Amino acid sequence: MRQSGTITFPIIVVFAAICYIYYSTVFVFIDGWFGLMTSPGLLNAVTFTLTAIVCLVTYWIAIVRDPGGVPSTFMPDIEDSETPIHEIKRKGGDLRYCQKCSRYKPPRAHHCRVCKRCVLRMDHHCIWINNCVGHANYKIFFVFVLYAVTACVHSLILLVGSVINDAEKDDQNDDGSPRIYYIISGVLLVPLAMALGILLGWHVYLILQNKTTIEYHEGVRAMWLAEKVGNVYTHPYDLGPYQNLTTLYLIPPRCWGQAFSHGSARPQDILVQAYGFGQPTTAQSPHHPPQDEFLCGLVTGYGEVVCKLLILTWMR
Ligand SMILES: [Zn+2]
Ligand SMILES: [Zn+2]
Repeated sequence: MRQSGTITFPIIVVFAAICYIYYSTVFVFIDGWFGLMTSPGLLNAVTFTLTAIVCLVTYWIAIVRDPGGVPSTFMPDIEDSETPIHEIKRKGGDLRYCQKCSRYKPPRAHHCRVCKRCVLRMDHHCIWINNCVGHANYKIFFVFVLYAVTACVHSLILLVGSVINDAEKDDQNDDGSPRIYYIISGVLLVPLAMALGILLGWHVYLILQNKTTIEYHEGVRAMWLAEKVGNVYTHPYDLGPYQNLTTLYLIPPRCWGQAFSHGSARPQDILVQAYGFGQPTTAQSPHHPPQDEFLCGLVTGYGEVVCKLLILTWMR
């Protein structure tokens, strides 16, 4: 069964890397370049600390939050004319059914072999969070990647600045510089920033098309098959870039569980609302959990503050 929340070796590696990068950035690069008691030093230290805290919190939520299992009460409504096409298997036209879970699969749900269950709007199983990235934790996973890239770029800028500053100082006085920190941090940060940057770009591309990683691969095959018989394949959940973006940010991550447990909506309504058919009206739902909107607003607002502080620092 699901094991999200279990601390594994890759998670310890990520936490250790965050701690090392935080220490070297604040106490070696910032302190060595500006001094921690100067205003640019303090400004950089505070912004970097806040970014690191957001990274740690969002990383932890992505680990422990249930990505979304299929409710035991789920039954596809075959008489509903709006039934999404992914409800039907491509071969044979039968309803999608998971043999391992012995239950019907909702649209966009897939069985994860690691978690040993079906996951709603499954994107992929991530070993770095020991959890599936699915409907309920996709947004927080994306926010984590966004801030991890911000932190890596900020740290790299401070690393380069600190190295240049040290080289100038060394010309006058060779009192030994923390070269080992520069080397280890460089070896860690450059590939990390590149990998996370590519991951971020990939998910921005997917979000703008309202696709998951699994659907991208399925789409490539579907497109090839459609072309063979002279048809054009279009992704059925694509509502246009703006609508796709707002759909992601307006869907309350727990609307599935809440709607089912309260018995307030038919599964089909939830499918239509949660997975991109029609307007993302769940934003006005009475079951909308305010904490997610709050966190999202907090994180977005913090992004603006970080940008402004960085601009101020560089214009000093
Ligand atoms: Zn399954
Ligand atoms: Zn999984």
